[in-house]
Amino acid sequence: MKQKKKSDVAVLLDYAGSHKGLTFLGLALSAVSMLLSMAPYICIWLVARDLIAVAPDWTRAQDIAQYGWLAFAFAVAGIVLYFAGLMCTHLAAFRTAANIRKQGVAHVMKAPLGFFDSNASGLIRGRLDAAAADTETLLAHNLADIVGTITLFVSMLVLMFVFDWRMGAACLLAAVISMIAMFSMMGGKNAKLMAEYQAAQDRMTKAGTEYVRGIPVVKIFQQTVYSFKAFQEAIEDYSSKAEHYQGDVCRVPQSINLTFTEGAFVFLVPAALFLAPGTLAGGDFAGFITNFAFYAVFSAIISTALAKIMFAASGMMLASTALGRIDQVMCAPELKVPEHPQSPGSSRVEFEDVSFTYDGAQTFALSHVSFTAEPGQTVALVGPSGGGKTTAASLIPRFWDATSGVVKVGGVDVRQIDPHVLMDQIAFVFQNSRLFKASILENVRAARPNATREQVLSALKAAQCEDILEKLPQGMDTLIGSEGTYLSGGEQQRIALARAILKDAPIVVLDEATAFADPENEALIQKAFTELTRGRTVIMIAHRLSTVVGADKILVLEEGRIVEQGSHQELTAAGGLYARMWADYNKAVQWKITSE
Ligand code: ADP
Ligand code: MG
Repeated sequence: MKQKKKSDVAVLLDYAGSHKGLTFLGLALSAVSMLLSMAPYICIWLVARDLIAVAPDWTRAQDIAQYGWLAFAFAVAGIVLYFAGLMCTHLAAFRTAANIRKQGVAHVMKAPLGFFDSNASGLIRGRLDAAAADTETLLAHNLADIVGTITLFVSMLVLMFVFDWRMGAACLLAAVISMIAMFSMMGGKNAKLMAEYQAAQDRMTKAGTEYVRGIPVVKIFQQTVYSFKAFQEAIEDYSSKAEHYQGDVCRVPQSINLTFTEGAFVFLVPAALFLAPGTLAGGDFAGFITNFAFYAVFSAIISTALAKIMFAASGMMLASTALGRIDQVMCAPELKVPEHPQSPGSSRVEFEDVSFTYDGAQTFALSHVSFTAEPGQTVALVGPSGGGKTTAASLIPRFWDATSGVVKVGGVDVRQIDPHVLMDQIAFVFQNSRLFKASILENVRAARPNATREQVLSALKAAQCEDILEKLPQGMDTLIGSEGTYLSGGEQQRIALARAILKDAPIVVLDEATAFADPENEALIQKAFTELTRGRTVIMIAHRLSTVVGADKILVLEEGRIVEQGSHQELTAAGGLYARMWADYNKAVQWKITSE
């Protein structure tokens, strides 16, 4: 069953961790500073009352001056405490936001690698950033504002009752009406507008990430492609949602002011006309006028306070959704680490009735897949795009965990193997291997940080990278990646293969690793492959069927199921899907040869 939900403020204070005390200190200071800031008004009130009581006797000028000094001292103390409080809440806010970022990043690190496919990294970052920024504002300003202004509001109201209950009553009524108006505005519609505003913000981040990723395509085709239009639309949508939401928020203070002015009008004008002067504190009409003036001043303060509370409350709501977004990051499925890890006995890879779903059992990317790759064997996965090949490969290093069934390495369920040990067993080469912004040396050495230069060099040689090293001025110390020397797709792939060779893992998983090879590179890549796969257990996903001809076993995956399996000879003879794919492949190759 669901646990009772913690309040947002409680969750936030959890994130504040050891800075909770600082937060509370800041809030207390801001409340006290608000109380002190009222002192001048009280003093003026006292003076006015005395003046009226003793007027026109000015002999008490001395007392007035004393009130003046008192008011000044309180006001200064109020300001000092206000800034001290602000400093505390700011410090606490920055540290809490830093905690949120750190915890978010730490948690995301624990998620299985597959999580990052379906959650655009830009979106994860955007969510963390927005959440941290919103909570920063909330803790630094909004919470202190709420505590301070509520203190101010309540004490002002009490004060007015003390001075003159009618004045207090008028103010209370106006406050109640404002609150009702405020909550009816904030409650339903405003919350909806805010949710829309935040959803639009998420969409914009996502569209932005996708657009930037697709820029090469935009440039090549010299036109506005879908992702650009989608991004533009997302920006426009966001800005209109933001306007709606902010516009709604801004209307509220005006209406509060109006209610208060009406309050003054509705209660004080009849009072003046019907209650008749003389029934009010101060004893005469002058007293009433004074009250009226004070009502005006106080109600202005109170209505400002209310408006501020409203703004702060809307900030709180923003932060509460921000917390929801942190949850989406923090709820990333965690890779479960076994309590009593077992060691794999060999490099055998087995799938036992494995099914897998990305979307909570609506569709199955893999259904009841079983096969074995004996140590040293090469098993090829082929089939139409979307058949589940990449999914199957990602279950071996636990980028995802199987929904049902068991994936075994060396006879042990992969979930029972220490993830680091498992990773050590597997070299994974992706279709578009990402190289970091670093030297070639560092890129290759990522596979084995304590490898010597000589070992890296021999891995590069085995991966047929000598021609690359020769043409680069600094050899393997040349910087590559986003700001470094440009390497072709095939060259990058060979360096990625060198990395896999250096890793020297008993199991090699290749996901369409030849797909980007150009004709000149193809032969070299094939040679690098031979080096990498020799004597190892290989799971190979191949687009070019020529690379799988020699495999010990070929599995044909279609819609998540193994529809055929066997050797190349067996499958071509069987005349099924593989035979058709093979015929098509040869036609395409033939066409390429004749057209060149
Ligand atoms: P293949 O590698 O054979 O082309 P995949 O394993 O990539 O096939 O995909 C199998 C199915 O799972 C497809 O329907 C695909 O849309 C879906 N799929 C793949 N990756 C994800 C993901 N990260 N989230 C949700 N669905 C996915
Ligand atoms: Mg794939």
